[in-house]
Amino acid sequence: MLATMSEREQADLVVVGAGTIGGWASWFAARDGVDRVVVLERRVAGQGASGRAAGIVRAQGGTPTTVALGRWSIDFYRRQAAELGTDSGFRELGYLILAVTDEDERSGRERVAMQQAEGLAVRWLSAAEAPATSVTLSPDGHRGGSYLATDGHIDPPPAADDEELRSDTSTAGR
Ligand SMILES: Cc1cc2nc3c(=O)[nH]c(=O)nc-3n(C[C@H](O)[C@H](O)[C@H](O)COP(=O)(O)OP(=O)(O)OC[C@H]3O[C@@H](n4cnc5c(N)ncnc54)[C@H](O)[C@@H]3O)c2cc1C
Repeated sequence: MLATMSEREQADLVVVGAGTIGGWASWFAARDGVDRVVVLERRVAGQGASGRAAGIVRAQGGTPTTVALGRWSIDFYRRQAAELGTDSGFRELGYLILAVTDEDERSGRERVAMQQAEGLAVRWLSAAEAPATSVTLSPDGHRGGSYLATDGHIDPPPAADDEELRSDTSTAGR
């Protein structure tokens, strides 16, 4: 459980902030062998931006690094329940990034080329093809967009409020 850390306590790693970044970073550090990990949280774990996000998780990043991070995250969320017994509610619903202007389409197609070079199975859907990914999408008023079927979303509050993170005895809050 989260507890107050005394000023004399020592740690091998101190993480400030128990949102999704600090929470998971501390968990992975402990898993990878860092002995005493302390997370300092001034309010309530998971109640910052992490508990308010839409929860979209996508490998359709804008740089090779964010593509790699997105893929890593999706791979992790897929095996989280089996590995940890907790669930962030990840669902692979696909993700369409629509282009509306000339510039959107130009930069979107450029982004898709970069992502495909990174090995991502993303593709560009025309305006006529895009509505097949969403029943509420009209074929008019846009230029199609990039689509990846394996992108999706988590359920932010449970993910940020993950019992595994909250009950880890190596964490402390302040
Ligand atoms: C409306 C909205 C929608 C979003 N949708 C998405 C989305 O769909 N997909 C996506 O990937 N991202 C989305 N984001 C962005 C995402 O929520 C953030 O990038 C992510 O939650 C940041 O995590 P964090 O752990 O860095 O921050 P936070 O969750 O805000 O955690 C930071 C924590 O640090 C604590 N803290 C700060 N300073 C101190 C201090 N000095 N001492 C102790 N504790 C401190 C805070 O109390 C807080 O608990 C969205 C954000 C918002 C606001």
